[in-house]
Parts: sequence; structure tokens; C-alpha cells
Amino acid sequence: MTVQNQPTTFSFQAEIKQLLRLMVHSLYSNREIFLRELISNASDANDKLRFEALAAPDLLADQPELAIQISLDPAAGTLTVSDSGIGMSADEIVAQLGTIAHSGTAEFLGKLTGESRHDAELIGQFGVGFYSVFIVADQVEVSSRRAGLGAAEGVRWVSDGEGEYTVEKIDKPDRGTQVTLTLKDDAREFLDPLTLEHLIHKYSDHIAFPVRLRKPGDGESGAEAVNQGKALWTRPRAEIGDEEYLEFYRHTAHDFAAPLTWSHNRVEGKREYTSLLYVPSAAPFDLWNREAPKGVKLYVQRVFISDQATQFLPLYLRFVRGIVDASDLSLNVSRELLQQDPNVAAIKSALTKRVLEMLDRLAQDEPGKYATFWKEFGAVLKEGIAEDPGNRDKIAGLLRFNSTRSDGLAQDRSLKDYVDSAPADQDQIYFLIGESPTAARGSPHLEALRDRGTEVLLLSDRIDEWLMQYLREFAGKKLKDVSRDAPESPAEGEIAAAGTEPKERKQLLKRIKRVLRDSIDEVRISRRLKESPACLVFKEEEIGFQMRELLKAAGHDAPASVPSLELNDAHPLVTRLAAETQEPKFELLARLLFDQALLLEGQPLEDPAAFVRRVNTLLAEPDPAAQGAA
Ligand code: ADP
Repeated sequence: MTVQNQPTTFSFQAEIKQLLRLMVHSLYSNREIFLRELISNASDANDKLRFEALAAPDLLADQPELAIQISLDPAAGTLTVSDSGIGMSADEIVAQLGTIAHSGTAEFLGKLTGESRHDAELIGQFGVGFYSVFIVADQVEVSSRRAGLGAAEGVRWVSDGEGEYTVEKIDKPDRGTQVTLTLKDDAREFLDPLTLEHLIHKYSDHIAFPVRLRKPGDGESGAEAVNQGKALWTRPRAEIGDEEYLEFYRHTAHDFAAPLTWSHNRVEGKREYTSLLYVPSAAPFDLWNREAPKGVKLYVQRVFISDQATQFLPLYLRFVRGIVDASDLSLNVSRELLQQDPNVAAIKSALTKRVLEMLDRLAQDEPGKYATFWKEFGAVLKEGIAEDPGNRDKIAGLLRFNSTRSDGLAQDRSLKDYVDSAPADQDQIYFLIGESPTAARGSPHLEALRDRGTEVLLLSDRIDEWLMQYLREFAGKKLKDVSRDAPESPAEGEIAAAGTEPKERKQLLKRIKRVLRDSIDEVRISRRLKESPACLVFKEEEIGFQMRELLKAAGHDAPASVPSLELNDAHPLVTRLAAETQEPKFELLARLLFDQALLLEGQPLEDPAAFVRRVNTLLAEPDPAAQGAA
């Protein structure tokens, strides 16, 4: 693209127009945040230049100081924020201020409802950044010069936020970016030096560069730094107030909503590093994109290195935000080197433990917040059971389940809760995996256990079957899937003791097996059923329904596994079946029994039309009771 010496007009990307309108509306009551966004961008720009200057010190030569300046002109009604950072070239300014790079923008916009509070939260998560200037300004002018380019290669970008902007070439004597807002009439409060000073304090105390405020009467040298100019994490914990930690979070995570908890630690000795890690209170819209993890911000000796250092935490903790400042890494670490550096591996392992401890503390001290955490990120944390054998016990302690003792569908039971409240002689922890929370609750497999008052954990996330293969034990007790074979199979003696006569029963089982031979492995009498006539049971090590779907979705062939059919011989339908002498009728009933069992597992029927025909045949039969009366 060629930028001219006169203004050329461009149109915003359609999504931006929509976002601008919604934002001005929904963030109106929060509008001071524009200042945070501008200071934050200026600080990032300074960080980026300092990083580039590691390899090219000349970039800093003519203007060594990295600072931020805010100035006021009440007469003109303007407020200006300038930095001496990396700046933008003409191409960059068009790309960065004219389009939204976020891949999920359209999807995100679809979630906005027009209800201010709800939208404000979402927009906060999304990160409105620069565009928030249009909440308070009629016109915004950005002048910038990329570090390394000459004075004649400056660029000016101007917009009123209505849909278009202009770009032109300018002379800009100094490096960096200057953003000037012509404030709306109802936003003139931001021209009041006291108000402004207060806000700058609030939004820049954690920033590592001096932020100076130049008021109308100040001379050339008059402006004084309002903030300490020290990176927040380098200061002692005792000196930092919660509000500062929160502000720093908003700056680093680009998230409006307060985090649930955080942990700030300095490690000294063999390896020196500082970490400040936060647990957000809401999942970002791209949490499930395992290919684009965000990672933490990496600094080396306070020099910004990378926005998205993914090497410092495992994938299953990808929701954690914050920074790591390591002293022992080389300043020109590349991504590849980071991967191999033994220091990085050691820090990763320590940070992983730190996060798990932070979550454990949250669970103990603030169960309400932990419940929020679990709702937002539980399914991600779970992946750690499979991915991180070394921390499996710790992660297992953090899991929460819905169970037959839960309040409705709440995931409010831990494995420890289970073990603590189970009878001392119960040596297994029972669980069941269902297609959905409701399907799990209604599963026939629970009937006998429910009668006995035994608690069963109810799982229904799509990865749960896969996951539970890795979680075999907790606190010395084995985890046992109640829908599986083995310990629950009836002992021979017990079969003989109950219900129909053994010989008739054998006959019945054989007849059913003959009808259903293509769909099932064995037919037997069940001990787990009380109300339902039948259910399906896999062997202990076989692949179940959920795992089969998961494999199929991933394009793999699932190994064959055929369930067995268990019957409740106290059920009238089973009794009727046993007494049925007509073969076609017997077959119809047997198939219905199997279809029902499949439905109860939340599984689709192979031939739904045949099922409907069978049911209708039965429904159309004359009522035997009515016949008797006639
Ligand atoms: P974010 O900061 O979340 O990326 P913004 O909308 O605030 O989103 O900014 C968009 C992009 O514009 C930034 O990523 C950056 O590349 C560029 N930018 C904004 N302000 C500045 C600045 N002061 N100096 C250099 N680049 C900037």
C-alpha cells in the first residue's frame, strides 16, 4: 500500500463498525477505561522497542529514554498520550487500527445481546483496546513513527469512529506514537488535572516506565512522573495493594472482570525468577482452541521478551494469565531455545505446582469462587489427569463431580468428600459415565446402588471416559465404573435364589440371545436393576459408547466391543417375555427390550423406524383388561 502526502480515506472492516457502535453504548458508564487502554498500549510499545533494541541497540541511540507522557489542552479540548516506543509504519497503522486480528470476531459479536451489563463483560473479555477512545472522543488522531525509520516516514491516522479513517504521510521528528483525543462535550471531565492525575495513578502504578502528566501551566521541564515507574512484580508483596494487583491483571490479561485469585512469588537461589500468576473468573471465547494457547508474558531481567510464552505452563493450565520474569535466561532466547532450556523446564515444573496449590487454597478458603473456577475451567484442568502423571494426585483432589448426593446437577462433590462420607469398609469409589448429566442421573445402572444408599459420581463430559482410564485410584481406593462388568456380576447361588425357576430362566436367556445374537455378547440376570427391565453392560476393559464416539470423531476405527444385556427378572415385561409362546411376538418384545436399554444409555437406535413399528404394534393391540370386562 502506498500512503500519500495528503489524507487518503479508508473504510473500517465491517466488524469494527459494529463493534464500535456496541462498545460506545455498552461501556458508556465505564468510559474512563480508555485511558488504561492507551497507557497499556504505550507501555507495550516501549516494551517491544526495548526488546528489539537488544539485537539492534541503534534503535534507541538518538532517544534513549522510554517513557510515556500525557498532556492536556483545555482550550482545544484535547488530551494526548505519547510514548517513545516501537511506533507503527504506515502499513502497520492500517493493519493494526483498521482491522481486528482476532479470529473469532464474528462469533464473538453474535454473542452480544444489547444488554449493557452483559455486553460490557463480554467486550471486556474480548479486549476493546484502542477503540475505547471513541467512547469519549469525537475525533482521534494517531501520529506515529516506527523505530528505525527516518523523520520523513511518519504517518498520521485520523478518525471520528463512524466508519472511516484517513491516513497520510507526515514528518515526525521523534520516534513513537502520539494519540490525541478531541473530547466529546460530555467527557470534558478528563481535562481536569486532578481527575486525570487520579486516573493515571490508578492505571499506571504498576507500569515499568515513567508516566508524566503535563498540565497547561507546566513549562518544558515541568512534567513530573505520576507513577513509581517500577514494574509491579519487582516490588515486595507487602507494599502492593489488591487494587494494584487487579489493575495489573487488567493490563496484562486484557480482561475487565476481576480474577478469582493470584499468586506472586520471588524465587531466589540456584534459579532466580519472579512469577505473578492469575486465575481469571471467566473462560475466554477461544479457550478450547488447543492450537492457540496464550501462555504467560515472559520477561528476562525486567525486559519484555514475549507476549505468549507457552513453555512455562502445561496445556491443561492454559487458562492462567500473568508474567514470569526469569533472571537466568539469555536475553536473546528464541522460541526453539526456550523449549530445550533446562531452566525453563525447571521453572515450568515449579509454576505448575504453584498453580495447583493456588487452586487448592482457593477451594479450601473460598468454595464459592472455586465453584466458579470449576464451571469455567474444570473441563480443561481435567486434561491434566491424563497429561501430567506426576501431579495426578494433586489434580484429582481438585476435581469436582456431580453425584447421586449432589444438589441437582451441581458439580459439587470432590473425591475427598466421597471418601470421607463413604462407609469405612467400602473400598471402591463408584462412578458412572452418561451421555448427559440428566441421562447419567436416570441411568438404570444406579438403581440397586441407590437403594443401598451408595454414592455414585456422575460424569458426562465428552472426554470423561478417556480421562477415567487414567484415574484408577484415589486415597487408596479404586475407582469403579458401575456400568461395567466384574464385581457386580451376580454369583450363581444368588441367581438361583431369586425370581423365576432356573430352568425356565436358562431357556429365556437362550431365546433372547438367539434373537439378539448380532447386537449383544451375553444375556444374563442382573443384580443392579430395580425399576428398569434391562440394561447394557460392557466388560471392564472394553471401549464404551463415549470413547467410541471420541475415536470416531478423531477419524480412528474403534475396536469392536459388544455389550451384554442384563435383565431384571422381577420386571413384568421380563415375566411376560418368559411366558410368551408365539415366536414373532417374543422377538418383538426382546428387540424392544434391547432398544430401550440402548436409549437409556443415550445412544441412537440403529433402525429407529423399526423401533417405532414395534412400539405401534404393541400400542394397537386390544387391551386385554378391557377385553376381559366385555
Ligand atoms: P491490543 O493492544 O489488545 O493488541 P489494541 O486495539 O489496543 O489491541 O491495539 C491494536 C494494535 O495496535 C496493537 O496490538 C499494536 O500493534 C498497535 N498499537 C496500538 N497502540 C500502539 C502504540 N502506542 N504504539 C505502537 N503500536 C500500537
